[in-house]
Amino acid sequence: MLNLKRKFFLFFAYVVNALGVCLIIPLLSVAADNNQDGQIEIYQPLTEYEKNILEQAVEDNQKSMFQNKMAFFFEIPYFEVALTLTNFTPIRERKAFKAAEIIQQVLNSKEFKEQLINFTYNNEKQFANNEDLTNEEIYEKIISGEEVLISGLNYQMDLVVSSYYKKFTSTVGYTYPNINKIYVNAKFYDHYNPAQIAGNFVHEWCHKLGFIHDYNRTARRAYSVPYAVGYIVEKLGEKYLDNLDREEEFN
Ligand SMILES: [Zn+2]
Repeated sequence: MLNLKRKFFLFFAYVVNALGVCLIIPLLSVAADNNQDGQIEIYQPLTEYEKNILEQAVEDNQKSMFQNKMAFFFEIPYFEVALTLTNFTPIRERKAFKAAEIIQQVLNSKEFKEQLINFTYNNEKQFANNEDLTNEEIYEKIISGEEVLISGLNYQMDLVVSSYYKKFTSTVGYTYPNINKIYVNAKFYDHYNPAQIAGNFVHEWCHKLGFIHDYNRTARRAYSVPYAVGYIVEKLGEKYLDNLDREEEFN
């Protein structure tokens, strides 16, 4: 009988003890979680849901950082020149690619934007033969690389140039409305500096965007988009070349 009582007591003590352990362990772990002193640090793997949240946040941030960076440097999507050359000697080729570099630098510059937006003809902010576009719209059209024969805005100048040589002529270059290629006379290009070539590339390319000018020398011809923008690129290009020379002298 005593033995049974003792057995029952031991069993009772065991149950109480077990319950106690069951209660104390969760209490201790709550205390650990609430520890504000940072003594206990528990790393748990991220759940799929948490991973998705973070992935989204990182992507958003990278995107806005990238956009901010672009806006800071260029204020516009970065304009690029895609130049394809046929029938060029290596020396002429080097000059043409230098011209492409100039175009890229100039068209991405603030000065170019200001020059185009403030351009005046007949005391008004406008170009001649402007296709009813404002200066801002002309600038946008140029920067977005909206060639008539190549669909879509790609912020890229898609230029295909073929070289030929003709001695007794005053034609520097020519092209047709239904082709994207432009033909340039090496007789002139051999004497041109890369900034002049850049100006001529841009002139011909403006035709590919749909801009025209008077065929004969008229008072307004120089104010047309191909002539005026070509000239602006040449002038800003010369400035760019001067800066390059000065940097080279310095180094
Ligand atoms: Zn022209």
